[in-house]
Amino acid sequence: LETIICKNCQNQFAGKYCNLCGEKVIEPREKTVWHFFGKLLEAFTSSDNKFFRSLYFIVFKPGKLSYDFAQGLRKPYFPPLSLFLLANLIYFLFPVAETFNTRFETQLRAMPHSFIARQIVENRLKKQKISLAALKAKYEPQSTNLAKTLLLLIVFLFAVPLYVLFYAKTSYFVEHLYFSFEFHSYNLFVNTIFLFYLLYPLVWTGDYFGLNIRPYLDNDNFFSTIVLISIIYFFSRGLFEFYQEKLLWRILKIFVLIISLFMILQSYRFILFLATMMTI
Ligand SMILES: [Zn+2]
Repeated sequence: LETIICKNCQNQFAGKYCNLCGEKVIEPREKTVWHFFGKLLEAFTSSDNKFFRSLYFIVFKPGKLSYDFAQGLRKPYFPPLSLFLLANLIYFLFPVAETFNTRFETQLRAMPHSFIARQIVENRLKKQKISLAALKAKYEPQSTNLAKTLLLLIVFLFAVPLYVLFYAKTSYFVEHLYFSFEFHSYNLFVNTIFLFYLLYPLVWTGDYFGLNIRPYLDNDNFFSTIVLISIIYFFSRGLFEFYQEKLLWRILKIFVLIISLFMILQSYRFILFLATMMTI
């Protein structure tokens, strides 16, 4: 076997991959355009598709991706962090669902912190002598912009109650973080992207057959109930798969987790409001 010097770490090795850093040896045939398109096609169609496999698992076998990842079985999957960043990207292409991208009006009227928010806005209007509409026009794009990054904060914060509740199962904070990333990927893909974008074709189909399902989709309680059921589904299976938690404890801890999640989401929205106001 011929000895190769690694392009990345200068280690000497034999074979297709560097045994120290994992860098791949590129052969001349891999530099052809044909090969490039072949790889591209493979990424979308192959049965070895990591993205679709990972997505399938987080929906139908919650907790498995994090479990395998924590055990060191990582090759077959899209990493939880990448999955989350991709979900984040898709969500913010058309952030119609207000869950993580709270609008100005909602911040001022429908939140527990709304009375503070209104005070801050009033002071700002007086100080800068601008109209509410002008402030709103500056607020919305900046809020959307900041939300993309701030969303990571939710994932980290949610790992804290997981760490406290399941400390006995694993004391590595990062393993709870894997589960938090998986859950939030699920939450973005299923409870926001899927629910909001893919239910609309259903409306059109309903219209076609003379069924008006639009009122259900405009109803916040209807959506909140579906989201809640979906979250309970994820936790009841995921907490068993990832932490091997027994049924009775699982029910109790799901209750605590949902309350934590709600509090984290509320805090996130307030932080998002403050961060936006500070940067416009
Ligand atoms: Zn190397």
